[in-house]
Amino acid sequence: MQWTVHRPFVPPTLLDRSRLRRAALRYAAHGWAVTPGARLAGHRFACGRPGCPIMACHPALEAWEETASADAAQVQAWWRHTPHTVLLVTGRCFDVLEVPATLGLRALGTACSTPECSASSRPTPAARSR
Ligand SMILES: [Zn+2]
Repeated sequence: MQWTVHRPFVPPTLLDRSRLRRAALRYAAHGWAVTPGARLAGHRFACGRPGCPIMACHPALEAWEETASADAAQVQAWWRHTPHTVLLVTGRCFDVLEVPATLGLRALGTACSTPECSASSRPTPAARSR
């Protein structure tokens, strides 16, 4: 028997599409612009554009910077028939910084010890799993 770290491909289900749509709607409810990402298709992501060579997750719409939206009706429409990944637009309402965990935790400790740091403006750590 051979072991692998890759899980077998399971086609996205209606439940997956529903979960992705609900996640997109929750982000949009915060006023955060979302855009549909390429959907998982086997061991790569597929945006639907013919000949697209990008295998990693990427925007499904070519003009995503102009069309990204927090409008609930638009978000519903994007995820109505396709289990797109959910991409959040950075640089508008929030930014994302990727740093080594030890450095990030030290910076968070320093930033959150100041009187200006409130729960709503506090940076949020996120761990990336591989
Ligand atoms: Zn593509």
